Amino acid sequence: MNISEVFFSVQGEGILAGTPSVFIRTNGCNLRCTWCDTPYTSWTPQGEDVMLGTLLANVRREWCGHVVVTGGEPMLAPEIVELCEGLRRIEHHITIETNGTVFKELECDLMSVSPKLANSTPPKKGRGLAVAGRHEELRYQPDVLRQLIARYPYQLKFVVSQKEDLAEITSIVKEIGADKHRVLLMPEGTKPSQLREKSEWIVEACKYYHYRYSPRLHVQLWGNKRGV
Ligand code: SF4
Repeated sequence: MNISEVFFSVQGEGILAGTPSVFIRTNGCNLRCTWCDTPYTSWTPQGEDVMLGTLLANVRREWCGHVVVTGGEPMLAPEIVELCEGLRRIEHHITIETNGTVFKELECDLMSVSPKLANSTPPKKGRGLAVAGRHEELRYQPDVLRQLIARYPYQLKFVVSQKEDLAEITSIVKEIGADKHRVLLMPEGTKPSQLREKSEWIVEACKYYHYRYSPRLHVQLWGNKRGV
């Protein structure tokens, strides 16, 4: 399986924030978000082939009970079904972090879906010139989102950059029929100061819409660092 990194940390986002977990980060993504915080899995992918047995041994070594399969876009990985079967055999809670553009039938305890808003599309210049059109076409797949939330226990996490994003989020939640109590808003940013700046008005938006606020613990603690 083409893997970018495996590490042991605490979940930084969503309803399981603070939970010690082993992270398996697959390499490769079908989107190119302008603010991507793991460009080494998307814009400039870097990974190596790792045997499934080795991945499971890594998880077993920590034995913390929780695994997060993330990316990149892990649902693109051909071996993901087999990996999740292996994780189920060793009785770990499985979270899959996905951008919600691909559906697969697999073992999963929490489908953590993060649909990408218009704020993610790179400008049509420089590095964005060749990829912006495809990103814009792919980033929102309402039928796939409906399938994912119907099939799995889920959370919907939105990366919020500006107040204008709130109307887009509300329209997506309505269109796919999601439960608003499973919607989490988290500030966009790779520096603690950027998160602080946005969190005040995002919390107010959560109170207004009855969404939840999600921290980004790893950014608050370590900034934009790999393997944490
Ligand atoms: S979907 Fe995730 S990994 Fe892919 S480009 Fe966007 S932020 Fe990066």
